[in-house]
Amino acid sequence: MNYRHLGRTGIRVSELSIGSWVTFKNQVDVNAAAEIMAAAYEHGVNFFDNAEVYAGGKSEEVMGAALKKLGWRRGSYLVSTKFYWGLNDGVNEKNTLNRKRLIEGINGSLERLQLDYVDLIYCHRPDQTTPIEETVWAMHNIIEWGKALYWGTSEWAAAEIVEAIQIAERHHLHKPVVEQPQYNLCERKRFEGDYARFYKEYGYGTTTWSPLASGLLSGKYNQGIPKDSRGALKGYEWLHSSLTDQQKLAKVAALEPIAKELGGTVAQLAIAWCLKNPFVSTVITGASRVEQVHENMKSAELATKITPEIMERIDVIFGAKKSEDDD
Ligand code: NDP
Repeated sequence: MNYRHLGRTGIRVSELSIGSWVTFKNQVDVNAAAEIMAAAYEHGVNFFDNAEVYAGGKSEEVMGAALKKLGWRRGSYLVSTKFYWGLNDGVNEKNTLNRKRLIEGINGSLERLQLDYVDLIYCHRPDQTTPIEETVWAMHNIIEWGKALYWGTSEWAAAEIVEAIQIAERHHLHKPVVEQPQYNLCERKRFEGDYARFYKEYGYGTTTWSPLASGLLSGKYNQGIPKDSRGALKGYEWLHSSLTDQQKLAKVAALEPIAKELGGTVAQLAIAWCLKNPFVSTVITGASRVEQVHENMKSAELATKITPEIMERIDVIFGAKKSEDDD
């Protein structure tokens, strides 16, 4: 496993990491989660991503119980969580980054995770109604209290992140250091467009999500939605249009010969492709079973075999620097 600096911070993250969205609680219990995490850790993964909203707080409970069971040295791994949507419908409790919610949020997350601190906290989405200054101060305070070590953003516009950085610099507060954006072969426009210059200038780290576009880029949806897949889960019907999109499926099918040539699978190729971008600090993978972890962790090795010529062939299939929005 290779480790990359999280932007300009001093910490390094494994270039492949594991997240718990959809899977923990909904598909895997504590024992299965511990097995997935243990398999990843043995491959060298040191970063585990979570959010308070995942499974309504239960995903943090499962990860917390799994960590307890695994008993790893706290210094050997990083855990994150995120806030925005909240767990309750109260007027100050949902879709917000207000000070009260963030502070109540971190306290609840630490309890569910059974940890004294988390390594990273993210603002899961921007909040147009709370002044960025209030959010920056709250995140700074959480770090000063030792409840989190670094903070970042997820799916914020570059201009919003710059504003947060500038406020922090003006008041000598802890700055946000990392963005968590979607990045995969079907969704690359924002990461490679708006953000590219910004990452360079500010040395912002990135922990990218959904490298397989929820499994689409593994090729397993090419013959329809398998019964044991995310696409078949109750509550995830909103993914169907993407998972059965014939244009996307044709592109995924066209990856197969390239994956074969390199001696890997389509999923490994799709994850490896994300790793080729030097602005990616870590690719957060998801897995509903241990075999997927073993398969996906081999992507790092496959990435070393991807030449510029192969990158060009992939660009031709997917349309270079384009997302479905441009089609
Ligand atoms: P992926 O796009 O990689 O999808 C993962 C899912 O694909 C797995 O749960 C599994 O689902 C299937 N899969 C994984 N590996 C394979 C394989 N080798 N072959 C076939 N199927 C496979 O990632 P996620 O969408 O899960 O996102 C990863 C993480 O990113 C999340 O856990 C979360 O931490 C983070 N995230 C952050 C967001 C944000 O807004 N900040 C939003 C979304 C995710 P199954 O077996 O059930 O089909």
